[in-house]
Amino acid sequence: MGDNEIIIGDSNGGGKEAFASGDALLSTFEEAEHQVDCAVCGGALQRPMWTVRDTLLGSTESYRIVRCPDCGTLRMSPRPTFDERRQSFTDLYPLFDWALGRKRAQAEQRIGRFAAQINEINRRQRPGKLLDVGCGDGYFLLGMQRRGWEVSGIELHEKVAAYARDELGLDVRGGAEDEVDWGGRYDCITLFGVIEDLDDPNACLDRCREHLNNGGLLVVQTHNIDSWEARHFGPHWFNIEAPRHVWHFSPVTLEKLLQNNGFRQEHLLHYGAVFVTERSIENRRGKVFPSSALDRIIRKAIVAPAAKIAPKLGQGIMIESYCRKTGS
Ligand SMILES: [Zn+2]
Repeated sequence: MGDNEIIIGDSNGGGKEAFASGDALLSTFEEAEHQVDCAVCGGALQRPMWTVRDTLLGSTESYRIVRCPDCGTLRMSPRPTFDERRQSFTDLYPLFDWALGRKRAQAEQRIGRFAAQINEINRRQRPGKLLDVGCGDGYFLLGMQRRGWEVSGIELHEKVAAYARDELGLDVRGGAEDEVDWGGRYDCITLFGVIEDLDDPNACLDRCREHLNNGGLLVVQTHNIDSWEARHFGPHWFNIEAPRHVWHFSPVTLEKLLQNNGFRQEHLLHYGAVFVTERSIENRRGKVFPSSALDRIIRKAIVAPAAKIAPKLGQGIMIESYCRKTGS
C-alpha cells in the first residue's frame, strides 16, 4: 500500500453501503482506551486508510482501518474489544454454505476442501496430537483423524462445537481461545482464519509456543493484505471484513509476528479463492456478481484463472505459514 493512500469515504460511487462519509460516524469507539498499538512492531503511530462498515451482516457502526507507518501492518483502530465483537462472529455462521444441518451429506467434499493443508502437514510431521484452534464444524479434524492423528479442537460458537462433538464424535471445546483449557502439549497446532480476529495475537502465539512440543509444527493461515487483489480492491476487499477482522498481515509482517513469538517459518503456502474475488466485486459495485452474460464471461476468462495463477506467483489472497519453535 502506498504511504499516500488515504481513503476516507466513497468517492467512486459503487458499493456505497460499505462506507461512512468521513469520521463523523466514528463515535462509540473513539475513546482513547479503544486505540490499538501495532501487534507486530508495538508502534502507536497510525495512518488512516479507510472507514468501512460490516458489509456481510450490515450495521450502522463504522470502523477505521489504519496502517502502521513503521512496519506496514494494517489494523482496526480504534476498536471494539473481542467481547464487544463476539456476537458478530456468531451471527455470521448461518451465512456459510456449510451451515448446520445442510452439510452432513457433503462430508467428503467438506474434508476435501482441506486437502492441501492435510497433505502439507502430513508431509512435514508424523501423526501425533493435534489441536485446531477455531476448528468450526470439525471437518478438518475429521480428515486429520483419518490420517492417524489424535485430534481436538476449540470453537467459539457453542452450537458449532456441539455439532462437531455430537455428530462427528470429536473432542471439541466451545468458547474463545483464551477462555478454554488447551489441555497438554501437541505435535501440531493449527489456526485457520483466527489470528486476524484476536485482540492480542501475541498472547495467542505465546500460548501456542507453550503447548507445542519441541519439534512440533505450528500452522497459521490468514489473508494477505499485500496481494494484488487486496491492493486492487482496497477497502472493498472482502477480507477486510470489519468488525471481525482487526488485523491485516502480509507475508513479511506475518513472518515477523511469528519470529517475535519464537517461531521460525519453514514454508509459506499461497492460496486463491474465487468467492473472495466475487464478493469483492459485489462490494465495490454494490450489486450481485455475476449478474449478466458479460459478468459470466469475466468470471470464466479473468476471475477463475486469476485465482489459480496468482498463488503460483506468490500473490495468494490467503497465506499459510508452517513454522517451528526456534531452538527446537
Ligand atoms: Zn507496526
